[in-house]
Amino acid sequence: MDASDMGADLEKVLVTADQISQRLAELAAQVDEDYAGKDVLLVGVLKGAALVMSDLVRALHLPAQMDWMAVSSYGSGTKSSGVVRIVKDLDTDVTGRHVLIVEDIIDSGLTLSWLVANLSSRGAASVEILTLLRKPDAAKVDVAVRYTGFDIPDEFVVGYGLDFAEHYRGLRFVGTLAPHVYETPHP
Ligand code: 5GP
Repeated sequence: MDASDMGADLEKVLVTADQISQRLAELAAQVDEDYAGKDVLLVGVLKGAALVMSDLVRALHLPAQMDWMAVSSYGSGTKSSGVVRIVKDLDTDVTGRHVLIVEDIIDSGLTLSWLVANLSSRGAASVEILTLLRKPDAAKVDVAVRYTGFDIPDEFVVGYGLDFAEHYRGLRFVGTLAPHVYETPHP
């Protein structure tokens, strides 16, 4: 999906497809360097991180392993509470492994801080975070993010894995939706 498929639904583009691929190439080069000689396990958080993961893993030279987790975070409205339930767990034993969590966006950071604690408690040798996007609130949480693609304003964004009511994940860019979209029921 690109901007021409969006019709009047799109308000503005915050990060273009070219900016995303260029930044992911830079981050992949850093990951290659930092994990040289190590067997890294990339852990993608479903569903949002699917696109970041698929482009990152192809940009890496390391023969990284991939696994997935799905978590649901209880919260009110669009804000998470930090109380997390595992919907789909890893297939991989992370004991002694160098884990790199791959995320689409960090907002409050509460979900991720729970995830880091959870994977560390399973005996991972290291747990680091790579996120494509980071919102200003993430700075308030004590979770250290090793690799960040872009800092964005505190706006609700869609595209490149991120949804509104499960739509728009296939956009090649990250953008905001026109206000009327939120008022129209989705099929
Ligand atoms: P938090 O960091 O607050 O615990 O939650 C992060 C999760 O909230 C993300 O993985 C994503 O699912 C969702 N989220 C946060 N901000 C946005 C946004 O702007 N757009 C979309 N589509 N999801 C968001």
